[in-house]
Amino acid sequence: NKTFDYLIVGSGLFGATFAHQATQRGFSCLVIDKRSELGGNLRCELVEGINVHQYGAHIFHTSDKAVWDYVNSIVPFNRYTNSPVANYKGRLYNLPFNMNTFYQMWGTVTPDAAMQKIEEQRKEAVEAMRKAGVAEPRNLEEQALTLVGRDIYETLIKDYTQKQWGRKCSELPAFIIKRLPVRLTFDNNYFNDAFQGIPIGGYNLLINGMLKDAECLTQTDFFQFSRSYDETDDCHVLTDGEKEIRCKKIVFTGKIDEFYNYEYGKLNYRTVRFEHTILNTSNHQGNAVVNYTDAETPYTRVIEHKHFESFGDDVYKNPRTVISREYSTEWTDGMEPYYPVNDETNNRISEKYRERGAQEKNVIFGGRLAEYKYYDMAPIIQKVLQMWE
Ligand code: FAD
Repeated sequence: NKTFDYLIVGSGLFGATFAHQATQRGFSCLVIDKRSELGGNLRCELVEGINVHQYGAHIFHTSDKAVWDYVNSIVPFNRYTNSPVANYKGRLYNLPFNMNTFYQMWGTVTPDAAMQKIEEQRKEAVEAMRKAGVAEPRNLEEQALTLVGRDIYETLIKDYTQKQWGRKCSELPAFIIKRLPVRLTFDNNYFNDAFQGIPIGGYNLLINGMLKDAECLTQTDFFQFSRSYDETDDCHVLTDGEKEIRCKKIVFTGKIDEFYNYEYGKLNYRTVRFEHTILNTSNHQGNAVVNYTDAETPYTRVIEHKHFESFGDDVYKNPRTVISREYSTEWTDGMEPYYPVNDETNNRISEKYRERGAQEKNVIFGGRLAEYKYYDMAPIIQKVLQMWE
């Protein structure tokens, strides 16, 4: 029976990058995933000839040239630039907050006029707090009001944030919003990074390229095996009655609380429910991402997937389109755990698991579920590349 150098649990970006780095150096890898498809949250499904991001829209962005060159060496990326639009009660505003937004909101034409408007409203908020005897913003609402003023807060932040967190902004901690950058230029590019885009042909090509030299098993849950350690061969042995897997090291990218059978308690998440719909039109909203920032609309965003990969007139080559409405919801067992809730209780619990994990022999914990930490894609790759350096 073969002994793998690495058993990688999870074929998401962390597991796939790790497998790629390891196999490139001649190490043998077995990648298992409990889902029926590889790729974790990057997985796309081809529907009507369009790559539909099954687990939420993913836009790659980074300022790290090495990371950008690395992903492009596996699959070239296109020129997609994220420029979301906000829809508030049927009126559209460009994001992130910039001169276009201010023109749409107030009709201001010059940077000075826009700045003056924002400053006036910020001062009003600070003055109101001072009158109430409040020195520092006590919650997200006060924080946002003092950073950008009432109009931007009420139109573009308030209801959207409430839908995301399922709680009023006045009941959310101020630290969730540290900065709210305003741009006094006509620049709708959401990211400040030097590089952004989507793999040409979709994310599955990136994952497949990374996993090309690894052995992969889908519909295989790590927890279906019982695990022991063979001290003579210095390797882990996993058995489920049918299969036996032997490996020198385990790279675990699943939930860390599950790894320890929830001994210190269950970690909590926010999740998103996606409603995918095929429409008989070429172009539904003219943009990949539209945020619904009012309270009346129950969903937070509508994603129109074709705009990630086709531009200009090419959009009309396909008579259909696929959209996904996103509903932010509380997480319960059986749902996809998307966003860690890094409040005091959850941080305390995850720290205990982390300390325990650090003592494990020949087990590496990595990725968003094992570290209980939100990571964008580029930092995940950066981390794995650094581990191998
Ligand atoms: P995952 O992709 O979750 O992979 C973990 C894998 O492990 C899964 O395939 C899972 O099935 C498997 N697994 C878990 N437990 C077991 C088990 N017991 N046995 C076997 N397999 C198991 N980043 C960006 O840079 N740009 C974006 O626009 C962006 N948008 C996002 C939108 C959403 C809704 C979310 C949630 C995240 C977004 N991200 C984005 C972040 C990005 O998804 C993560 O950086 C990336 O998924 C992290 O990869 P991972 O391998 O850690 O986790």
